[in-house]
Amino acid sequence: MSRVVLVTGGSRGIGRATAERFVALGDKVAVTYNTTAPSGDFLAVQCDVTQESHVERAFTEVEEKLGPVEVLVSNAGITKDGLLLRMKEADFVDVVDANLTGAFRVAKRATQSMLRARRGRIILVSSVVGLLGQAGQANYAASKAGLVGFARSLARELGSRNITVNVVAPGPVDTDMTRKLGDDKLKAFADLVPLGRVATPDEIAGAIAFLASADAAYITGAVLPVDGGLGMGH
Ligand code: NAP
Repeated sequence: MSRVVLVTGGSRGIGRATAERFVALGDKVAVTYNTTAPSGDFLAVQCDVTQESHVERAFTEVEEKLGPVEVLVSNAGITKDGLLLRMKEADFVDVVDANLTGAFRVAKRATQSMLRARRGRIILVSSVVGLLGQAGQANYAASKAGLVGFARSLARELGSRNITVNVVAPGPVDTDMTRKLGDDKLKAFADLVPLGRVATPDEIAGAIAFLASADAAYITGAVLPVDGGLGMGH
């Protein structure tokens, strides 16, 4: 059964691995990118999730070329780290705008056709940091924690229409986002993880694909940790 899947921030990292996973499952896949168009067996559309007009344009293009979105993976995200006293208000606002309000923009737009179809899957990519907190990432943690309340509210609003809304909470993953921290910091993170390593993007993609699968039909409002045990019950 081929579905129309849209992955935001699908140009690299977790989003890219997720798009490739759905392609391998035989789905019709679109990815959004912000700056650099990726190439692959999917439709790539430019969309800055901080711009409502971009979101509208991207969904319209996907609907015209592939059909209404049946599975939405809200994955696009950024970091602008800093300790609280050094964090500029713009760094806080920008991160919340991209990570949390961006998810609101795409989920709201995707829901239009899901309500009509009376089915749909929405998966939001949060982080273990949203559950545990992280010094130097107050803005990022707030945005990722916000996704949990957002998802659970949508799960309640949309459940009667057979639309599930779930959150995946990865621990450290080997992508550009973590590589920019440097090897020493990444190793320090890996040492905190009970499984003793960071995840591959494909390991996160597998959890996302599960939440979009028939086996997850009765799961909604859940937070699925994919963190090597780092959060341990949070
Ligand atoms: P990444 O390699 O830095 O990729 C980020 C993706 O988001 C890129 O496709 C980027 O597009 C896109 N993006 C950024 N800002 C955007 C905007 N304003 N509008 C649209 N797209 C935008 O990051 P990643 O590590 O794969 O992270 C993906 C998600 O997983 C994020 O939400 C992140 O917070 C979360 N996460 C990551 C980790 C980790 O350790 N890596 C852990 C937990 C959660 P361009 O390529 O066009 O810039």
